[in-house]
Amino acid sequence: MILERQFDVWAVGSGYAGAVSARALAEKGKRVLVLERRNHIGGNAYDRLDEAGVLIHQYGPHIFHTNNKAVFDFLSRFTQWRDYQHRVAANLPDGSGRPGWRLQYPVPFNLTSLETAFGPKQGKQLAERLIAAYGAERKVTILELRQNGDPDISALADYVYEHVFVHYTMKQWGQTPEEIDPATTARVPVFLSRDDRYFQDTWQGMPLEGYTKMFQRMLDHPNIEVRLNTDARPLLAEAGCPVIYTGQADELFDFKFGPLPYRTLDFRFETWRDRTDPRQPYPDEAHPLRGGDFFQTHGTVNYTVDEEFTRITEFKHLTGQNLPGVTTIVKEYSRAYTGGAGEIPYYAIINEANNALYAKYRAEAEKYPNLHLLGRLAEYKYYNMDAIAARALELAERL
Ligand code: FAD
Ligand code: UDP
Repeated sequence: MILERQFDVWAVGSGYAGAVSARALAEKGKRVLVLERRNHIGGNAYDRLDEAGVLIHQYGPHIFHTNNKAVFDFLSRFTQWRDYQHRVAANLPDGSGRPGWRLQYPVPFNLTSLETAFGPKQGKQLAERLIAAYGAERKVTILELRQNGDPDISALADYVYEHVFVHYTMKQWGQTPEEIDPATTARVPVFLSRDDRYFQDTWQGMPLEGYTKMFQRMLDHPNIEVRLNTDARPLLAEAGCPVIYTGQADELFDFKFGPLPYRTLDFRFETWRDRTDPRQPYPDEAHPLRGGDFFQTHGTVNYTVDEEFTRITEFKHLTGQNLPGVTTIVKEYSRAYTGGAGEIPYYAIINEANNALYAKYRAEAEKYPNLHLLGRLAEYKYYNMDAIAARALELAERL
């Protein structure tokens, strides 16, 4: 017997799925054991200070946004928020062929992007055409826009497809926008608006002291015990109570039907210092901090046509951290997940074949009435943080 105490529920994983359900159940009087394989809580939302003192997101940039008031209210009990509206720019060659001459405009592609790409006159004409076809302030997916029969709109759709979607999607998924789940590119529609925010949700922001602090407070409850560095799988036979499993469904069943495909990411973090700082490791010409405090203009810049990475995020824009003369950025490189040591499956690859494979694991899980699969990995879905939190609250209610 590894467990000295009796628990009413086990939560495997301490990301949004595990931590939110643990807290909600603990408040209903259930004694909850949280088992976490990593040496920290928070799942992929985990953040920490790096060597330069910059608050970074170890598993890629996370921006909270939701229209779900219950979720926002629940999380707000464990954190205050920094009001942050995420803005993303596409950065691409300007088409002149001159090395280093680049364009930058808002993503989602909007009326401002249109004018930057086509100039004020043609941009305005095209905007009028689009608004006549779809209505002002409307969001139109790239695949929908490409169906339009109007030759001018169709030419515009081809431009956006080529300059914003196809190369970025190839880098991220190794497939074209037509080949991947249409819901994925629909996350970033063309927006017939001047609103240049990445999300239009009612509640958006960053936890004032970071995600990890928020998770610490959430899991700080007399009915919750957290064990880090513990793979739950060898222990599950001992549970004797409901188990909320938030890890991979294929791994849980020893890949008996074959591995589920995922994309993984390599994150390359770089710390940049003001050129007057003697620790500045780069020659001035290479790419200094330009004597200022920031590496780039936006929280995230998407390299939509060239470069091997998909995007660069600069954390200080997100967190509002005041650190003069130093900044940390992260570049994301996407590739196929192989299951190798240390690799993390970040994105389920949603398509018919993979959904069918997942359904086999799901059916297997259903043979165990005490087993509940919850979360981005366990459900093999492309969920944002708020969606997982909402599902965790629902499951806690049901249990
Ligand atoms: P996870 O966070 O993956 O947590 C699962 C936990 O379970 C992990 O800690 C893992 O170690 C643990 N675990 C797994 N198996 C076992 C086991 N056998 N034993 C013990 N522990 C185990 N969403 C947004 O809303 N906004 C964003 O800006 C955003 N940005 C993102 C950027 C990237 C690069 C990625 C990959 C995702 C992003 N997301 C974003 C999505 C967000 O990360 C997920 O919605 C969220 O992390 C899902 O939480 P989860 O608990 O399901 O999974
Ligand atoms: N996408 C794109 N170009 C962009 C931004 C997004 O082609 O500049 C596509 C790409 O296929 C991506 C998807 O839209 O995977 C969803 O983008 P999102 O920013 O929501 O991805 P995430 O932040 O979840 O990685």
